[in-house]
Amino acid sequence: MKYILALDQGTTSSRAILFDNHGKVAGKAYQEFRQIYPKAGWVEHDPKDILGSQVGVIAEALVRAGASMADVEAVGVSNQRETTLVWDARTGEPIYNAIVWQCRRTAAMCDKLKEEGTDKLIYQKTGLVADAYFSATKIKWILDNVDGARALAKAGYLRFGTVDTYLMYALSGGRIFATDYTNAARTMLFNIHTLKWDDDLLSLFDIPRSMLPEVYPSGHFYGRTDAAYLGRELAICAVAGDQQAALYGHLCTNKGDIKNTYGTGCFLLMNTGGEAVESRNGLITSLAAGVGGRPDYVLEGSVFVGGAAVQWLRDELRVISSAAESEELALKVPSSDGVYVVPAFTGLGAPYWDARARGAIVGITRGTSREHIVRATLEGIAYQVADIVRAMSLDAGVNITELRVDGGASANNFLMDFQANILNCAVLRPAVTETTALGAAYLAGLTSGMWQGTDELKHNERTERTFLPSIDEEERQKLLSGWQSAVSASRVK
Ligand code: ADP
Repeated sequence: MKYILALDQGTTSSRAILFDNHGKVAGKAYQEFRQIYPKAGWVEHDPKDILGSQVGVIAEALVRAGASMADVEAVGVSNQRETTLVWDARTGEPIYNAIVWQCRRTAAMCDKLKEEGTDKLIYQKTGLVADAYFSATKIKWILDNVDGARALAKAGYLRFGTVDTYLMYALSGGRIFATDYTNAARTMLFNIHTLKWDDDLLSLFDIPRSMLPEVYPSGHFYGRTDAAYLGRELAICAVAGDQQAALYGHLCTNKGDIKNTYGTGCFLLMNTGGEAVESRNGLITSLAAGVGGRPDYVLEGSVFVGGAAVQWLRDELRVISSAAESEELALKVPSSDGVYVVPAFTGLGAPYWDARARGAIVGITRGTSREHIVRATLEGIAYQVADIVRAMSLDAGVNITELRVDGGASANNFLMDFQANILNCAVLRPAVTETTALGAAYLAGLTSGMWQGTDELKHNERTERTFLPSIDEEERQKLLSGWQSAVSASRVK
């Protein structure tokens, strides 16, 4: 039996999952690692923790599957996107901690870009909104703030990588210095139309070209790991950023295919085929994962507070004792009885983009119970997702008939039911919920030849449950118009 080993290097944990040739999980292991908060709003990871936890879980996953390194046909990597590492090529040693995507230390730099109007150029070339999330300003910060870094960069000694690049570089003993389109597209240095690093952006951020890795399709033979590291040379056959890997894991490979991950926040991605769709609603345009050739484009939108609203019910309001209890309570009442919860705790994202909006509970009467509040909170997550789906549908000019889901809160049947009702489309929850790792495995297995094409994968794919809409258009419109009023109430006039 041969397996595909997926390495899923996430923000809070590293996972290794072994998939068999049917796309089934044969063994998995995961390890959390340290989050470093040097100052308010700053987030870092120690590169040694990223590497150590990732290597550690590989052996464990193999043991769980009763397999050995010799049984691994190929490796696929998926990773937290945008997180930035810079190291010295002469030693392989990072010159600073990894600056995590969430880190806000370069927010002022981005405000300045907006004031100067440079954000328009950035959007045209990269499809991104000028924001501190993306790697470019983080690289610049390291070059400007680490002693001697600028001189080393000028001399050609420094290398930049997102986590995928760093992992491959380390695991191959410095032989692989590469990334894929999906990761490159999140750096704010990569032109998504020409599929090349952009010289104008490199000079804008004062970053030498010699720091940047080669860029390849997600499914591609990247090279082999060094035997000194894992005891064997393993072929790395795929790399993709986590959200794009998840999109591929759902086999959303056709125009109009869309997935949502219900985690702490929600991440929506829609495949828009060969067309880079310009958004009129502040969505991001980026690249999809694929095997060989030119990649498809995606539209991406996120809900800041998704499952976190359920944590709020549990930890602050204390009206539930576990996240799962929210489903039970929501089902105890026939409706939210006109109550709406807008979880705009940190402002509203797409399509409203109102940083000053704050959470709101509206429509409360003397009869409002905790069941109503809990139900309305779950509904609030679904309404926010629906707002983004509608924006994507309008931007791309496609009608959405299916939404594929994953992530912790997708386990909530009430939430999925309500999502189907409010979107008036089918919501499909897969049997394998490790969609990110599955996407990396699919890409690697298609590249190595374990699978011949996506048709074969579609044949193996199992939907655990399909949620279909069960309310009529009149009721849907009534609910949506109530939501719009509630959103207005959450915004400061
Ligand atoms: P992340 O990857 O962002 O840490 P996960 O995919 O692990 O997130 O999902 C965790 C989130 O899902 C938490 O915010 C939690 O409140 C929410 N969650 C987990 N189970 C349920 C459930 N049954 N119903 C509603 N929300 C849930």
